[in-house]
Amino acid sequence: MKCRVCGAELKPTSTDLPFKVREAGIVIVKSLPVLQCGTCPEYLIEDAVLGRVDRILAHVAPGTDLEIIRYAA
Ligand SMILES: [Zn+2]
Repeated sequence: MKCRVCGAELKPTSTDLPFKVREAGIVIVKSLPVLQCGTCPEYLIEDAVLGRVDRILAHVAPGTDLEIIRYAA
């Protein structure tokens, strides 16, 4: 797959990313698989990964301010 910004090849890697949940909650998902551009800061999260992140976020308790969850494939 190619970067939509610069057209370079995207390479699979893993990173830690924050996601907003509900009003004020932040969940940091660690070791998230992403496709990272080799030449610019652009990255892409695949639909299957995003779907799993949605399910992870759905289990976060109401009222959580900050939670760190490890993404496990
Ligand atoms: Zn790029």
